Parts: sequence; C-alpha cells; structure tokens
Amino acid sequence: MANTRKGVTQVESTTRKAFKYRLYPTKAQGRALDTTLLLCQRLYNGCLEERRGAYKKAGKSVSVYDQMKALPEVKDGVPEYKGVNAQVLQNVVRRVDRAFQGFFSRVKAGKTPGYPRFKPRDRYDSFTYPQPSQNSVSGDGKHVYLPKIGNVRIKLHRPFAGKLKTLAVKREGREWYVVLSCEVPRAEPLPETSSGVGIDVGTTWFYVTSDGEFCKNHRFFQASSKKLRVAQRALSRKPKGRSNRRRKAKERVAKLYRKTARQRLQLHHEEAKKLVSQHGLICHEDLNVKGMAQGKLGKQIHDVGWGQFFQILSSKAEEAGRRVLAVDPRFTSQRCRVCGHTEKGNRASQANFRCLSCGHSENADVNAAKNILAQGLRFVAQRTSLEDACHEKPRPLGLG
Ligand SMILES: [Zn+2]
Repeated sequence: MANTRKGVTQVESTTRKAFKYRLYPTKAQGRALDTTLLLCQRLYNGCLEERRGAYKKAGKSVSVYDQMKALPEVKDGVPEYKGVNAQVLQNVVRRVDRAFQGFFSRVKAGKTPGYPRFKPRDRYDSFTYPQPSQNSVSGDGKHVYLPKIGNVRIKLHRPFAGKLKTLAVKREGREWYVVLSCEVPRAEPLPETSSGVGIDVGTTWFYVTSDGEFCKNHRFFQASSKKLRVAQRALSRKPKGRSNRRRKAKERVAKLYRKTARQRLQLHHEEAKKLVSQHGLICHEDLNVKGMAQGKLGKQIHDVGWGQFFQILSSKAEEAGRRVLAVDPRFTSQRCRVCGHTEKGNRASQANFRCLSCGHSENADVNAAKNILAQGLRFVAQRTSLEDACHEKPRPLGLG
C-alpha cells in the first residue's frame, strides 16, 4: 500500500512476511486440531447459509457483527464450540464476510461472479488466530502455543522476524503447518540501475537472458519431479476403488506434489531476487499462461509455473522500485535481432537461430531474449513522457 503526499508516492515503511513451519502434534493434539477444523468448517457453512438466506429474501441483511454477536448462542447450542478459541471463531465469521465483500465488489464492477460457496471438509484446511501472543513460539523455538490446543512441537527450520500479526494453522494432507504472518520493515530500495534485460522462458532452460545467461531448472527440482512422475504412474496402475494400497499411493503423490511445489516456489523466489537486484528493467513474454496451458505445452507450463514466477518477479520489482514489462511474445523467436527479418525458417533448429536474410547466427533463445528486451525498450522510449505507461501493455512489433 502506498499513500501520496505532495504528489510524491511514499511507500509504507513496513510490509507483511509469512513464515511457514511444520508442526508435530501429539495424537491428542492432532485430534484437537482435526476437531477445531471441522467445527470451523461447519460454522463457516452455517454463517454462509444464514447470509445466503437473508440475501435471497432481500431487504434483510446479516452483518459480520450480527453473526459475531450470535457466537455465544452457537456455543450454548453446540457445547463443542466451547473447546475452540473465541478469536478463531470470530475469524471464521470474518472469512465469510470477506467472501461476501469480494462477491459484492465484483458485482459492483459489473462482473458476474459466482455466489460464495459452501466449503466441503477437504477444502477447508486452515484456521487463524487473528491476535496471537508475541510469545507464541517458546524461547527455545521448540514449541508453539495454540490456545485451546496446547504447546505443539514445531520445527523452526529458519528463524522468523518482526511483529507477529496473525497465526494460522494449516492442514496439508496428513501434515500440519503453522504460518506466522509478521510485520517487518520494508527493505530499502535497491540502488538505481539503468540495466535492462530480456528473458526468454522455456522448458529446456528455466530462462535465458539477453545477456546470454542460461538459468537451469534446478537439479533438486528435476529429481523430485521425476519421483513425482514415478509415483503418479504407480498410482495409475493401482486398481480403482478404496483399497489401502491405492490410498497410500495417493498420499505419496500428494506429498511429493507438495514437495515439488515448495522447491519450485523457492527457486522462483531466488531467481526473481537475482534478476531484480541486477536490472532496472526486466522484460519477459506475456505468455497468457492460461491460454497456453490449454494447448499441447500445457502440462509442462503448469509444471514450470511461469505464472507464479512472473507474479513473484513483479512484486519483488515493485518493492525494489524496478520495472517489469510483459511484451507480446509473437515472432520473438522467429525475428532476426540484427536485421529484423522474420521467418519461421530462421530457426535452423530448436537451439540454433540462423537468419536466412543476413546470415546472423546465434543461440535461438538468446536471440529471442534480445528481441524481448528490444520490444520492451522500444515501448519505454515511446512512453517515457507518459506516466501511465506502466498500465499499458506493449504491442508487438510488425512483421519484418
Ligand atoms: Zn538477419
């Protein structure tokens, strides 16, 4: 969030950062966590039902405060709720409210959003303490205190920092995690740099830059992706039905999937940080990832998750006062960056570019990355006088 003073945009001095850790509850604590989640899910659906009814009968609306005031009644009616922290229950009511706020603002914007939906058990996977104690994590970092649940063993694989704002408990498969959302000072903007870079993403390389740098898909990531594929194949061989072996195979796939997702996220953060620290302008292809994901390349694109990468890149760039441009990717791989000649045949092979007009030859991905940068720079040059340039999308260069 930013506020303006004297026409100058001032960035707020703090930002939120989330730290996620694995929990190791005892059997009794595990049961308490399960029960809490189940009761929260039922409360969520109950509150949603009440508001849906009121909305349909028009004229009568139920506010978040009405529903919060009714919580003691809920506890009287269903005594199990007395075993759940009061603020956790209030947070459930707020979640329902947020779903409705989102719905109404989309209606206001002229869209036709789906009505807030009931959440089935397997989709309701977290509950939140909105005002946790600053001493929630024990001094030795071995336990986290969850009101009404107890001191649960935690694995603090890295330290967290800042002021603890919210504490969420999350179930992933059969594992439990805690997410600490902390307020931390915003990093100082990085020193200015006029360096610009174009990046061409692909499946052979994670990305290739206009400077000729080749970034690998990390090996640890490839290894776990391979394990995931093996596990998926094993699962597909198990007969359909409710057998124990099938359930175990399914759990293994889910676990490996989460592992690769975690590693991918880490890779994306690292690479984005590197690019943002080195360049003032970063241009990448506007992949319209969703559209492409439906095509033949879909599976691979989903695996590599460029949508997520570009999102992380943009937010890190914004924090550091850098600029990221998504340029139209058409013809960037077929155009000669030296003479501009554009033809499919320029692409001698997957890896090599050889211009049929001027003879320029170069690594095909580097040629494409240079075109991407050129397109971004051309766009910037045209719009430097216009403040709103960053809200516009660059258009593709014409053929030839
Ligand atoms: Zn050429």
